[in-house]
Amino acid sequence: MRAQDYIDLESRYGAHNYRPIDVVIERAEGVWVYDIEGKRYLDCLAAYSAVNQGHCHPKIVQTLHEQASKVTLTSRAFRNEQLPLLYKELHDLTGFDMALPMNSGAEAVETAIKTARKWGYKVKGISRDAAEIIVCAGNFHGRTVTIVSFSSDEQYRDGFGPFTPGFKIIPYGDIEALRDAINPNTCAFLVEPIQGEAGIVIPPGGFLREASDLCRRNRVLLMTDEIQSGLGRTGKLFAYMHEGITPDVLIVGKALSGGFYPVSAILASREILGVYRPGDHGSTFGGNPMGCAIARTALRVLIEEKMVERSAELGAYFLKKLQSLRSPALKEVRGRGLWIGIELNGLARPYCEALKEEGILCKETHDHVIRIAPPLIITREEIDWAFDRIAKVIEKLGKD
Ligand SMILES: *Cc1c(COP(=O)(O)O)cnc(C)c1O
Repeated sequence: MRAQDYIDLESRYGAHNYRPIDVVIERAEGVWVYDIEGKRYLDCLAAYSAVNQGHCHPKIVQTLHEQASKVTLTSRAFRNEQLPLLYKELHDLTGFDMALPMNSGAEAVETAIKTARKWGYKVKGISRDAAEIIVCAGNFHGRTVTIVSFSSDEQYRDGFGPFTPGFKIIPYGDIEALRDAINPNTCAFLVEPIQGEAGIVIPPGGFLREASDLCRRNRVLLMTDEIQSGLGRTGKLFAYMHEGITPDVLIVGKALSGGFYPVSAILASREILGVYRPGDHGSTFGGNPMGCAIARTALRVLIEEKMVERSAELGAYFLKKLQSLRSPALKEVRGRGLWIGIELNGLARPYCEALKEEGILCKETHDHVIRIAPPLIITREEIDWAFDRIAKVIEKLGKD
């Protein structure tokens, strides 16, 4: 079969809830992916930062093989020997007392919302069904009905109502709006330290620190969604570390499994996660030994291979190069670590299509931004290689 045959099959038998770049990937290794004709591309999306460790990392592959032939799923009706080890390693790595494992990112966000509400009622003493959570305009936290209930993107909500009440939206990065939005019924402020899907939007310096103070003073849980920004992407293990704060609830997913398997979790203190009693919440696959074994190795290689440090160093190098580009098509180039947004005056899609032809895969986000987020194992030489091609495409398309 040829590429077009696969595309036709997909189009005919699958729901059209995505508009992918037309490259049919067959295999991948490190920062490179290969299409069915064997053409090689540098992956500058890394599956929305789920593949920070690089595609098919050999140590994670080995763990997957070993664990797959031992035991894959016990359900939480029984215990398994991987989950406690993952808990302990997450604690040692992050300092949070406890974790609650789920699978997809959206499930972890849902879990954070449920946790904040329960904490609001049981610990803070908010009256029944009155709890409020503050979120930011431009947010992306996933696709469940509750999560799209507080999206500010009309398309994410259109046709999916009725929606879940109990959320207040403030402008991103606006500390005064946060102050005004907090009332005695507020149980949490849910925020991305940098908004990824919105186009790598970085809030004003100090915003997170001030938000953290404000939350502490008002007994509001600060919940950072680091599903995309976490695990090295921004040049720190977690993006909140850029402001020297610690959130009350940390939400992780994506690269927690190095892209092998959906594994997500929320991390928090004993006071917060202590609100759960057996039966309150759960997931058949959450905390399964396969996912836990994979996550343990994915975290180990991230640290052992110094991917967080690489992200800081090579990200700064890449950003500086991209910021040196001059073109009437460019509005702004911004980023942190190996997470760079190239904001254009026009649509980003044609640039992504042209970059594909040059052997670079990236995806536009919110129409005008090209997101550059390669696996954190990318080398300086590969960055130079990518830069030359990006410069060429911007120069070429920027003229028309
Ligand atoms: C991807 C993402 C999610 C949702 O994760 P899924 O695994 O797709 O459900 C939530 N929050 C952020 C910030 C994300 O980038």
